[in-house]
Amino acid sequence: MSYHVMFPNYTVGVDSYTKIPEICRPYGKKIAIIGGKTALHKVQNEIKAALTGSGLEILDIIWYGGDSTPENVEMLKQNSSIQNADMLFGIGGGRAIDTCKMTAHDLEKPFFTFPTIASTCAACTGVAVQYYPNGEFRGLYLSNIPAKHIFISTKIIAEAPDLYLWAGIGDTLAKHYESTFSSRGDELEHFNALGINISSLSVDPLVKYGKKAMRDCIANTPSPELEQTVLSIIISTGLVSNLVDNDYNSSLAHAVYYGVTSLGKAAEKHLHGEIVSYGVLVLLTLDQQAKERDRIFNFNKSIGLPTKLADLDILKQTDLEALIQKASETNDLVHVPYKITQAMIREAILELEKYNKSIEAAAS
Ligand SMILES: [Zn+2]
Repeated sequence: MSYHVMFPNYTVGVDSYTKIPEICRPYGKKIAIIGGKTALHKVQNEIKAALTGSGLEILDIIWYGGDSTPENVEMLKQNSSIQNADMLFGIGGGRAIDTCKMTAHDLEKPFFTFPTIASTCAACTGVAVQYYPNGEFRGLYLSNIPAKHIFISTKIIAEAPDLYLWAGIGDTLAKHYESTFSSRGDELEHFNALGINISSLSVDPLVKYGKKAMRDCIANTPSPELEQTVLSIIISTGLVSNLVDNDYNSSLAHAVYYGVTSLGKAAEKHLHGEIVSYGVLVLLTLDQQAKERDRIFNFNKSIGLPTKLADLDILKQTDLEALIQKASETNDLVHVPYKITQAMIREAILELEKYNKSIEAAAS
């Protein structure tokens, strides 16, 4: 049986949009742009300027509908400009880009992505996340066809709210630890081995450059450190996601995330990547990777990501038990190198609490 692997190409830098004509022209002339309102407002003049005199033509600029839903995809597919376009541009955060992606997949059109925040690897992957109109998670739209090219403007991302970058860093940390953990002991096909081997690029650059990148994002200033961080979030992580089996794409860190979100109100103030970065510490504690746990603990502390339950407003014993219950039931713990029991999750969380206390005691 044959299989195919598709990689997206990318351009990164403060002036990355100037490359649109040379990269997009082979795909035709007519473009329909789909994006989020804020994102479209921020980038449309720069894109129009890049297209001036290029022979490429924008048929229409269309709001994606506000969420990544099949309903919005159907609405976009009825749009005559989208139907007549040779290629689609998806502009914005993960949900806007995913909506453009599904529309492009359904209409079998090439698409290009323009992430305006660095909070997920959505710009790089073929798969899309779908929600119900009320915002609830609905499922995945599976495809391994990624964008033809990703245009990453570090200027636009530097100007975006730093909270997105912060949460993006937290989510990205999980990719290496979850993929190496869940694939441990397996005989890996070439594509899986390739993905898992590059996954360290989802951690090391963040630990090295993440703190400076956060400062630069707060100051709205593009920098080499911000660029390294953004590439880690969007490209390294996206390539791993595209390459490896779905079983390897998430594990205990995300199981903890689902556990926390099942608590409702307390969790609502916390972002996905923020919670996942805490889950990474639980994974590293449970798996007794003490050196890595300490390294990520220190890194989380350095940029204000959570290291303990109180950081996520989990203060009651009943909440902790509900979290453990929910986490242990998720699909993320099906393909793991050894059986993970509720007692093991509880023990890891409590050991991590103890570790926090010892660090706090040493500091005071
Ligand atoms: Zn995630």
